[in-house]
Amino acid sequence: MFHNTHVYIASKLYNSADELLLVGSILPDLAVTGIIQWEGGLHGKESVKSFFQFIQGNSTYLNLYKGVYAHNILDDFTHQNYQGEPGFAYQNNKELVQLVKRFYDLDDKGAAGKAHNYIESGVDILLLKEHPEVQNQFRKAINQVDKPQLAYLLSAYFKVDEAKFLVAILQFFELFTKYDFSKQENWVLFWQDLEKLLVLKDIGDKNRKVLIDKSLEIVKNTYQDFLNYSLTEGVKQV
Ligand SMILES: [Zn+2]
Repeated sequence: MFHNTHVYIASKLYNSADELLLVGSILPDLAVTGIIQWEGGLHGKESVKSFFQFIQGNSTYLNLYKGVYAHNILDDFTHQNYQGEPGFAYQNNKELVQLVKRFYDLDDKGAAGKAHNYIESGVDILLLKEHPEVQNQFRKAINQVDKPQLAYLLSAYFKVDEAKFLVAILQFFELFTKYDFSKQENWVLFWQDLEKLLVLKDIGDKNRKVLIDKSLEIVKNTYQDFLNYSLTEGVKQV
């Protein structure tokens, strides 16, 4: 899922708006900057376990770990297994995958991957219509968190240069705060940024809007159930 849905679920699962928890809930997707890997960075059971072992000795950062953990719970329902079927973001996607395939010149697998990100965008958009406060909570957390400290911690864990980590963190936070995500039209701009970061073809505003509209159509009747399921099932895991 995208950042607002991750923040929402983490804050509900732990009943807290602690800034480290909320920042942790988006942290695995720092991979979008290339500073950490998607698989093996902060995604997946093994990664989460080894991050916990690292954080254990530093209780100040326990909430950061909890956020990462909550992120992985939601990703599991989104990508792997939702009510016995493939993850939520891979369901009812046939038409969308065809459009993505055509617009971006991708093969079937690549198109399903990007279509899943559009479906996630649809969930974020609808969530913010109902819970606009989530975006404010998130911005507040980003403002409050000590970025150089975070860069120091993560550089020690990943054994990557601290200054490089700080640049990546700032770029990552900027990406997720530069637009008012409660305004649907801004997702077209956000996707233009993502295309650059993910080395995708620039498909233009019109096509991006078609994909966003399609994703909203797909999730509008199901996203509420998905969020409820993620909370009721997720809470059993925290
Ligand atoms: Zn993720």
